[in-house]
Amino acid sequence: MKKRWHWNERTRLVLTLELAVVLPAAALIIFMALRLKSIQRDRQVEAAIQRDFYEVLAISEKHMSEKAFELVDPVRHQFPPANQACPESLDGLLEQYPYAAHLFLYNPDRGAIFRSRQARMREPDFRTEGDELAKMMAGWAKIDYDYMVKKLHELDSKGKTPVFYDGSHVSRGDRHLYQSIAVFLLPHTPGERPTVGAMAFDAEYLRDRFFPEMLSSCMRSNFAEAKSDKSGSRAGMMVHIRGESDPLATSAEWDGGTPEVERNLETAFSGLTLAIKLHGTTLASLGQRFIRTSFLILSALSVLLAAGILLTYRNVWKEMALARLKSDFVSNVSHELRTPLSLIRLYAETLEMGRLSSREKYQQYYSIIRKESERLTALINNILDFSRIEAGRKEYDFRETDIAELVRNTLESYRYQIEQHGFAFQESIADDLPSLRVDREAIARSLLNLVNNALKYSQIEKFLGVKLYRDNGSVKLEVIDHGIGIPPNEQPKIFEKFYRICDPLVHNTKGSGLGLSLVRHIVRAHGGEVSVESAPGKGSKFTIALPVNSAVDGASSS
Ligand code: ADP
Repeated sequence: MKKRWHWNERTRLVLTLELAVVLPAAALIIFMALRLKSIQRDRQVEAAIQRDFYEVLAISEKHMSEKAFELVDPVRHQFPPANQACPESLDGLLEQYPYAAHLFLYNPDRGAIFRSRQARMREPDFRTEGDELAKMMAGWAKIDYDYMVKKLHELDSKGKTPVFYDGSHVSRGDRHLYQSIAVFLLPHTPGERPTVGAMAFDAEYLRDRFFPEMLSSCMRSNFAEAKSDKSGSRAGMMVHIRGESDPLATSAEWDGGTPEVERNLETAFSGLTLAIKLHGTTLASLGQRFIRTSFLILSALSVLLAAGILLTYRNVWKEMALARLKSDFVSNVSHELRTPLSLIRLYAETLEMGRLSSREKYQQYYSIIRKESERLTALINNILDFSRIEAGRKEYDFRETDIAELVRNTLESYRYQIEQHGFAFQESIADDLPSLRVDREAIARSLLNLVNNALKYSQIEKFLGVKLYRDNGSVKLEVIDHGIGIPPNEQPKIFEKFYRICDPLVHNTKGSGLGLSLVRHIVRAHGGEVSVESAPGKGSKFTIALPVNSAVDGASSS
């Protein structure tokens, strides 16, 4: 015998509550706590990224300035002194340092000398650049000579490299390039006023070599350690002319878009802005993604919670309905037990007194007592069966059975009662029926329950029909009446335990609400199904369909 775990209602309710409400609620709480932590963490990461970006830009600017000083230093030191300076000597210097585009020197006593890289003078843009710069430098030096000298002396006296820079745009067609001009003091010729020298960086060199190389090396040295461990994302850098958004130069990781952090360069490259952003994403979209996933998870959990509450509500509602049905059941059963018992007692007492006039009377009383005790037995059998089923202990004894004979015999023992109730009885049992493996007693009880219902619920037109026939793979047993019928919406419910239709016609009839639930249980245990077709006021037809090749286990319980 297979022992099955029996779920009582309370266990089910508690489990539903735990699974459907407590679990999602707990998940929600844990999720919210984790989210709060991760919001904190994410904010920290975001702030850390920002902070690191500022840091990286500051360090990069420093590197670029140092590099600019490194490039200017040899030129400055090899600059011909004022008394030897001539276009040829400046050409030699330009030859030596390809990153210099123009050289300039000015002494108030000797005047100004300006020299551009001759090899490029065939390029119209470059020539225009040289001409304009020559004019600009001469004018600037004349006006600001004293200021320049003072500023350079100050830098020197503070222990700093005596070089300052000035940035400007140069035109290339309709686009701009950037040029930085380094201004410095040349070695002093005794008896003369100081000479100011200047070197203009080659704009193409800055755009094509200096900045790309600097940006990449800054990314390598600073960014790799500073950033990737915190956000896990890479970043890209670019440099652009202040006021313009197009990059002048970018690192390999730059993928376009709006920079996260910018820094206006000061020392060597004033007029330029250094910018940085995450590669492939932005801090804002990182935040949005985080918010989106939070919302998604939250809504999924809320749906779960709502479903759980709905499920619990349904369960509680079902439990309440069941409790109501149970209390009805107790009063119905007590009523059903009391009636036959008082009848039996009344007739037995009368018989005991021995005052009956005829032998027929005695016979009549004995038969009433027998019938009432049969009714009692049937009711108690139903209740016992029901309690076995509820406890999961119901066992069936399946045996090869001549189903036609079983039905005929069962009806025979009931025929007298049927006819006594004034019922027109029609029995139709097919001849060619196969034998089935069934529990005789259980199937007989199912049939009696259906017949009994037909008798109980037919007040006006008293007709009972029983048909047994083969239909494809099953044998069908039909019990037909022309009684009160069942409304369509009640038909699925009548097979539930304790369920009785809330109708005065039903209410006045004795019953426990167990019969059909037992029938369904028994039939299903045989691998079959019970169904009903009914119309209120016209009657009902209950059909039990039992499979011919039933594969049921010989002693299974269900
Ligand atoms: P009961 O002991 O109340 O008859 P059942 O489980 O046998 O319990 O039936 C459940 C309900 O189904 C009945 O209360 C009745 O309302 C309805 N019912 C069952 N059989 C019939 C029928 N033949 N005609 C009309 N209603 C029926």
